[in-house]
Amino acid sequence: MLIVMHHSANEQEIEQVKQAVKDMGLQAEPIPGSERTAIGVLGNRGYVDDATIRNLPGVREVIHVSKPYKLVSRDFHPQATVVKVGGVAVGDGQPPVMMAGPCSIESELQMMESAKVVKQAGANILRGGAFKPRTGPHSFQGLGVDGLKLLRQAGDEVGMPVVTEVMRIGQLDDVCRYADVLQIGARNMQNFDLLKEVGKLSHPVLLKRGMSATIEEFLAAAEYIVAEGNDQVILCERGIRTFEKATRNTLDLSVVPLVRSMSHLPIIVDPSHATGIRDLVPVMSKAAMVAGAHGLMVEVHHDPAKALCDGAQSLNGPEFSRLMAELQQLQSCLMSAENSA
Ligand code: PEP
Ligand code: MN
Repeated sequence: MLIVMHHSANEQEIEQVKQAVKDMGLQAEPIPGSERTAIGVLGNRGYVDDATIRNLPGVREVIHVSKPYKLVSRDFHPQATVVKVGGVAVGDGQPPVMMAGPCSIESELQMMESAKVVKQAGANILRGGAFKPRTGPHSFQGLGVDGLKLLRQAGDEVGMPVVTEVMRIGQLDDVCRYADVLQIGARNMQNFDLLKEVGKLSHPVLLKRGMSATIEEFLAAAEYIVAEGNDQVILCERGIRTFEKATRNTLDLSVVPLVRSMSHLPIIVDPSHATGIRDLVPVMSKAAMVAGAHGLMVEVHHDPAKALCDGAQSLNGPEFSRLMAELQQLQSCLMSAENSA
């Protein structure tokens, strides 16, 4: 950390800052300049909370050299983390993970039919929301625990692990009982209490990027989980809010190679929530794989026209099967390109 003083800062103010740094158990190295003094902070083993420094008289700016995340960073942990979900491995050197299923669990019939469709097409993790974070209170809110049971039943029936969203700490017992992967949705990416609680568990976590979260905030959110002891975290880019209204969100694909270079955690892409448009889902799925995603989360409904939530972005069975076949071809191309590189 570097503390830049105002050009008008006097000796007493500089001394006060040096003392505050020492009080934090760190070393302060003044770097006098022709116009102003800067104070280098040494001895920290990670990000330093600058709250006590920033507001001292004479301080102009505090520049952080260390990132607010460490445990999830490549610098700290160069080897890629492979997350295990039942028999499915997610991460470097593994086949792409395909999480698929309806936005919401609506009924036994819908969940079973959708599960069969995605299983048949070759997906390996079944998704379905039981607790739904809807924008308005009058929209379908999900079936709650009854939905979790239907998801589990469908997963067991077709032989797939299941992922579902948990919105608050009070739902954790139920979600852990029925689900293999705990999804933290975009709206809860900075629900720090929830992040800490899932960090204390052994269930793998799918952490979605907040709709206005920077990459640094995204990784700092993952850090909350890993800092509590749970390193089984899969990141998910699901589009961010921009000025563009033609798509539901703007899919930020550059985050995939960037996060892969910054963090050892696997990252997948959700082209369904990113685009909101069914016809864009296949092409953006393929783009995500080219960008280096470790897999995808795709909304699939056996009858999207009747879906209670997100039908417009859901693929039907034949569309999803076609996408899976195309992805397989693409994967062979990517692997041969990698081998000949
Ligand atoms: C979901 O996956 O069901 C969902 C609500 O996604 P997001 O949190 O990305 O909006
Ligand atoms: Mn959805």
